[in-house]
Amino acid sequence: MPTSAASTPRAYAIESGCAEALASFKLPQTLGFGLVTAPVMYSAEFDGSSWSNKQLLKYGPLEILPGARALQYAELVFEGMKAYRVGKDQPNLFRPHDHWRRLANSSERLSIPVLPEAVFMEGLEAMVRACAPFIPRISKQALYLRPFVYGTEAGYLIRNSTTLRFIIIANPSEVYQSGALSVAIERLDARAANGGTGTAKTGGNYAASLRASSAASARGHHVVLWLDAPEHRYVQELSGMNLFAVIDGNLHTPELDGTILPGITRDSLIAIARRDGMPLQQRRIEIDELLRQVREGRCTELFACGTAAIVSPIKQLVDADGAVYAPAQVDTIAAQLRESLLSIQERRAADTFGWTREVQVG
Ligand SMILES: *Cc1c(COP(=O)(O)O)cnc(C)c1O
Repeated sequence: MPTSAASTPRAYAIESGCAEALASFKLPQTLGFGLVTAPVMYSAEFDGSSWSNKQLLKYGPLEILPGARALQYAELVFEGMKAYRVGKDQPNLFRPHDHWRRLANSSERLSIPVLPEAVFMEGLEAMVRACAPFIPRISKQALYLRPFVYGTEAGYLIRNSTTLRFIIIANPSEVYQSGALSVAIERLDARAANGGTGTAKTGGNYAASLRASSAASARGHHVVLWLDAPEHRYVQELSGMNLFAVIDGNLHTPELDGTILPGITRDSLIAIARRDGMPLQQRRIEIDELLRQVREGRCTELFACGTAAIVSPIKQLVDADGAVYAPAQVDTIAAQLRESLLSIQERRAADTFGWTREVQVG
């Protein structure tokens, strides 16, 4: 069957050497998350008025001016998404339009010119086609795609770069974290405040989280739970995942209050819960109340969600004073929701939400 790609001329160039790099690439036995890098990357450049120089390049170091605003002022927005190819000939992207929409929102927050959706989609499809032979075929594995846009113009004046570069790199990957998470509650540092960049997927948010994350990791925990900036009283999210709690049998998750990253996995789980008639509340969740409810057995389960991890059970919340709060159940409701979501992502179940987008690779 002729594909649309075969009938329309390809709009991007392919650097010589890509074919050889792809042909000699071998998928290792163990993938981990983000440890194996696809041998090609997509690149496009914005000169202040239009996007051009679209090409598939061999994966390798980027040239960047030392004074580039991406390096000096963290002028960078990114996405994290997956292409699945489990039990199907043609791979599929999960909610690519929503990932583009979020990249656009992140860009607007940093006043970075918005990458056209057509360039975003062309890059994704170019990467999925090139990487198709090594998109993992095992359930829960996928090709993780990391599109990002950054300011390339050098200068210390505090304004936006007029020139940008868009890159997509990819990693055949397992899920980010397979076991149950030990979560450290952060009582001092803050990740995001009202009016800040918490809702944008931008490197600066991660910079703000590094000290607490590294300290938590040194104490043996997997990830930090962030609280609101002024009061340290309400639950926000984990460093790269949104949080859900099962309280009195109902699902609860912090509302999108302008500081939380609006996860596409979070949104997908909410849609699935609604479809399945599971009661769900998006609200302000007080940390001390949540801990009390874990102690009293009313909060029976906690889990995290994000593209990389899908749905990760939480085995315990650990407070700054070392107190441990372990919910009675680990991976019960979480396992149900993970399977409901994954069955759509892997197209074992009907996609009534219209979330998956097939890419014809031949
Ligand atoms: C990317 C991200 C998430 C998860 O978003 P998904 O769209 O579900 O992958 C959650 N929190 C932060 C801070 C993130 O950067």
